[in-house]
Amino acid sequence: MPVKYYAHGRRDQMKVALTFDDGPNPPRTDQVIEILNSYGARGTFFVLGKWVERFPQAFERIIASGHAVGNHSHLHQTHLGDFDRAEAVIGNLLGRPTRYLRAHYFNFFTCLYSPVAMAPGMKIVDADVNPADYAKTDPQAIVQATLNHPALAGGSIIDLHDGTESDDDALRLARSLPMIQALPAIIDGLRAKGFELVSLDEMELIDPIEWQYDGRGNIASAEVRAAIAGLDGS
Ligand SMILES: [Zn+2]
Repeated sequence: MPVKYYAHGRRDQMKVALTFDDGPNPPRTDQVIEILNSYGARGTFFVLGKWVERFPQAFERIIASGHAVGNHSHLHQTHLGDFDRAEAVIGNLLGRPTRYLRAHYFNFFTCLYSPVAMAPGMKIVDADVNPADYAKTDPQAIVQATLNHPALAGGSIIDLHDGTESDDDALRLARSLPMIQALPAIIDGLRAKGFELVSLDEMELIDPIEWQYDGRGNIASAEVRAAIAGLDGS
């Protein structure tokens, strides 16, 4: 079975989905939720299993606030089994399987060997608007990179980060501050363009892309690279 993933929803509706990766990251995630809630906007949080394990209440606050969640692996590493390990933690608190999964570093290869990623009810979700907020320290630059992104349209999925995979607590708390400062202006700007901000639960995902091995798994672990090398010969 091929790996298929989605990068956007229906283009004929003025809906966009804000997605936040690499949390839960208290209290930054709570600050994001507070902003979203104050605007009546809904978001989707692609969480890391290791952070859900460390901060279960922060994860439960996302759920209690009515936002959607997805599996973004356990350690944010390209080890086979990393999505499955995360699902054990996330599914335990959700009480049901996760519906969305986001591969990190565009490495869809590990999805192939993940029963969780390949489950019939699971949608693998990428994004078509990537403002690279994690690499910017100026909030205004994040606002501009989002609102002026060439792919921004109805159905867009916007990739932001409320956390980091780093185990350095100082970095974890600092990394998302510029994005949080930018978020109100991003929401205002999207609304001014006529967009409604919805969670992935409220967006019909269309045009799945069939993943082809493209060499990007080269950043994977030695174990995964060996498996990819085996594929090339087949
Ligand atoms: Zn990530």
